[in-house]
Amino acid sequence: MPKSFLPTLILKVAVPSPFRHVLDYLPPSNQIHEMQPGCRLWVPLRNRKTLGILISTSNTPEVSVDKLKPAYAWIDETPILPPSLMQLGLWASHYYQHPIGEVFQHLLPPALRQGQAPTPQTTPGIWQLTLKGQLLEETLVLKQAPKQQQAIRLLREHEQGLSLSALKILNVPSSILKILQQKGWIETRPLPVKRQEPATTNVMEAALALNAEQQKALTHLMQQPNTFRCSLLDGITGSGKTEIYLQWITYWLSQQKQVLVLVPEIGLTPQTLARFKRRFNANILVLHSKLTDKERWLAWNAAYTGSAHIIIGTRSAVFIPLAHPGAIIVDEEQDASFKQQSGFRYSARDLAVYRAKLENIPILLGSATPSLESLNNCAQGRYHPLLLTQRAGQAKLPQFNIVDIRDKTLIEGFSPIVLEAIQRTLDQGEQALIFLNRRGYAPSLICHHCGWVVQCPHCDAHLTLYSRPARLLCHHCGYGQTAPQFCAHCQSSDLRSLGAGTERLEETLTHYFPKTPVIRIDKDSTRGKLSFAQLLDQIHQQKPLILVGTQMLAKGHHFPLVTLVLLLDMDAGLYTGDFRGPERTAQLILQVAGRAGREERPGTVWLQTRTPNHPLLISIQQHDYGHFAQQELIQRQAAHLPPFFPMALIRAESRKPTDAQQLLSKAAKYAQIQPLTQTHVLGPVPAMMEKKANFYRAQLLLTASHSKELRQLLHRTIHFIDQQPETKKVRWSAEMDPLELY
Ligand code: ADP
Ligand code: ZN
Ligand code: ZN
Repeated sequence: MPKSFLPTLILKVAVPSPFRHVLDYLPPSNQIHEMQPGCRLWVPLRNRKTLGILISTSNTPEVSVDKLKPAYAWIDETPILPPSLMQLGLWASHYYQHPIGEVFQHLLPPALRQGQAPTPQTTPGIWQLTLKGQLLEETLVLKQAPKQQQAIRLLREHEQGLSLSALKILNVPSSILKILQQKGWIETRPLPVKRQEPATTNVMEAALALNAEQQKALTHLMQQPNTFRCSLLDGITGSGKTEIYLQWITYWLSQQKQVLVLVPEIGLTPQTLARFKRRFNANILVLHSKLTDKERWLAWNAAYTGSAHIIIGTRSAVFIPLAHPGAIIVDEEQDASFKQQSGFRYSARDLAVYRAKLENIPILLGSATPSLESLNNCAQGRYHPLLLTQRAGQAKLPQFNIVDIRDKTLIEGFSPIVLEAIQRTLDQGEQALIFLNRRGYAPSLICHHCGWVVQCPHCDAHLTLYSRPARLLCHHCGYGQTAPQFCAHCQSSDLRSLGAGTERLEETLTHYFPKTPVIRIDKDSTRGKLSFAQLLDQIHQQKPLILVGTQMLAKGHHFPLVTLVLLLDMDAGLYTGDFRGPERTAQLILQVAGRAGREERPGTVWLQTRTPNHPLLISIQQHDYGHFAQQELIQRQAAHLPPFFPMALIRAESRKPTDAQQLLSKAAKYAQIQPLTQTHVLGPVPAMMEKKANFYRAQLLLTASHSKELRQLLHRTIHFIDQQPETKKVRWSAEMDPLELY
């Protein structure tokens, strides 16, 4: 019988490549193996050995079997990815229309992408004498090598062996150990593998007695705990959300289950982590971007085997496998850092909800300023709202003062009554926090004579002025130069800084309050001599000071002595071209305001504005985010915008100004004639900043009344673009549910 008539099983494999589909391979020859999805294997890809993940098997190849290559070899005996994560990966690839191989890369830590075993080899732990070493007469043989002699003697005295660290303390360097090992006198044996202790209810710090609202929320969470349900804990800052997380986690630990807690990128403060550690006698794993590849591997394994009980992590932790999944918590669910902004542009919050559904476990989203998406999901009955309207404990909500600065004389940008309030705060031994979301000394350098402004040569943007040393930097492409002495246009030497950034505020405030330390916290200052942690330490020392900072200060931190918060220059956020501008501004204001008066001392919040009657500011002044959100939702619905009309964005950029725009124009024409109901194509339009890092950028928006139609439209349009010759000159990407326009 000819070979091709034999029923051949085809492996459908996800490989790291831009292919939008799985690739077909024949099973490895000479290797009998169960064909279970979720196993890794080596496959040939463009003549290179590449790691793939088996997605499924099939009897019907895409191409003739004769053309298929066999895979090289299996790596795993049994699946390394549980079925729930396999499904999550497949769904994510489908929903976000992202190449499946690249999606599956995100499901594994780097070591496992390189073919390592799921369990890291334990580092050689204990050194001991070999039989040869035990018989050695070291005083004779090692007469000339006292250090080696000493090491042998120590190991003879410690029959059980000595760990590397113990030997270090006893002055035996590892170089000596290596020599003795080469001579065959000593050897290592691995540390005994730790048994996986079950999670424990051994709570160390007592739980707080919940107030009525908290109790109601927790009671709801405890009903039918073992099924999928999504709840939204909508509670003002300081209302005791974290306390509810802790008490819910206590329950899951008592059930021997694991809890996954997702936090924003810079949201997990040392204070919060310390609170978790004080509360639980459990293995708490923290996953963040600074981990080494080895640490990631160990962490993945700890979650996979169940030895980690509480896993706290940023965005990518949504893909960590759990041996005994109990519940998922997403803190600050509205935070933009849950959305990956390049490559595979997924929302970790949304994937977490889908994952909870797949695992059939409950999920809790928490926020003081929930996203309009989640509020709408509550209104539609998909999520269950749990409200906390009061601050827990003793703290009261801060008083909000809107300062109208129209036509007022300002002192270096400050209203006199605000400066007086800062002075009073300092006099009372308290701290003031000044928020300005702009780094550097000044946003631009301008010629006083002719109005020429120093531009970035690579972007449609002004260069930001920095002082000490004076230099100009582009915040968009990183370009830098020394500050010019003369205007390039009229040669005048009268160049002046325009506006203020955090550096300038620091200078002004130091000048105005000479006796008070001023601490600046932004991306630049925390890169400098003192780390963020050291700066925070200074703040926690009990003394009056002034804090100046960007949104790095806004998230999660608890500054007990801060009783005054001042927000500067928020007006631009109220009037941006981005439809999410007001939502984001309201969230930011409340987040920053939430830093004031978190303990017994009452707080005040000041906001300088030229639009004091803006409805957003009025709602917020009354601490009524809910009212603002309702109004905003009505407008979004009327304007056919998310969350009512889902949106997708296609971005394109090219070296030549017209190429990106042309490709998107073709795509728009194609998308418009698709026979799909209720879909809309908007654009293409140039990006708000068209030129960035020498690329000209344009965007095309797609919306639909249903997510399914939108996905179909996006799918077809992507397919169309893939086939256009212009893609050789244009970089482009597609994104579902974009948070930021281009
Ligand atoms: P959130 O996470 O909503 O900002 P937290 O859980 O951090 O709120 O609580 C804010 C403060 O109130 C903390 O100092 C916390 O210890 C305290 N707290 C929370 N719940 C209670 C309670 N039921 N009784 C007394 N104090 C509480
Ligand atoms: Zn000039
Ligand atoms: Zn630039």
